[in-house]
Amino acid sequence: MALLLIPISSSHAVDIPVICADKISYELRTSNVINQCLESELSLGEGPIAYSLTAPKTLNSTLEVRFLSAQAAAKRDGVALDITSGYRTLARQSELFKRALRKYGSYKEAAKWVSPPGISHHPLGLAIDVNYPNDPKGAKWLEIHGYKFGLCRVFENEWWHFEGNIAPGWKCPKMFKDARAFLKS
Ligand SMILES: [Zn+2]
Repeated sequence: MALLLIPISSSHAVDIPVICADKISYELRTSNVINQCLESELSLGEGPIAYSLTAPKTLNSTLEVRFLSAQAAAKRDGVALDITSGYRTLARQSELFKRALRKYGSYKEAAKWVSPPGISHHPLGLAIDVNYPNDPKGAKWLEIHGYKFGLCRVFENEWWHFEGNIAPGWKCPKMFKDARAFLKS
C-alpha cells in the first residue's frame, strides 16, 4: 500500500484559514495559520475545538470568542443572545443529573436531557446553553448562522445547546437525537 505524504509548506499553510475577531467590535476577518491574528484581534481557531487534557475551570476561551462574535453579529440583526449556562463544575453537573434521575425515573430517560457528569461537555468547558429556557427564537438565529463562527446545535431535543465542534465556516454535522449519543456503550 502506497502512503501518500503531503508536505506542509508555507505555500500550503497560507491556505489554512484562521478566523479572527476584532477585540472591540467582534467583526470577523480571515487570516491564515502563518499570519495568525493581529494584536487587536482574537482567534476563533482553525478547527473544531479540541478537548483539554486537564480539567478546565472555566469556559474554553476559543468557545467564548466564537460566542461573543456570534452575539455581536446577532445584535446587528436585532437578536439578543445570552449564555444561560456554560462551564459547570463536575459537582454541579452531578447535582443536575441526580435531579433529572428523580424527575425521569431511569438512567436512560434522564440521560436524554442531562448528561451524566463524566459525559457532559459542560464540565469540559466545551458546551453552552443559549437563551434557555425562554427564547428559542433567538437561539434559532444561532442555529442558522452559528457555523460561520464555528458553533453548532448538537441535539435534536435541545434547541439551546451549542458546541464549537467545527472550524468556523464549515458545515455543521447532522444533529444527534439526544445527549445519549455521548454515553459510552
Ligand atoms: Zn447544554
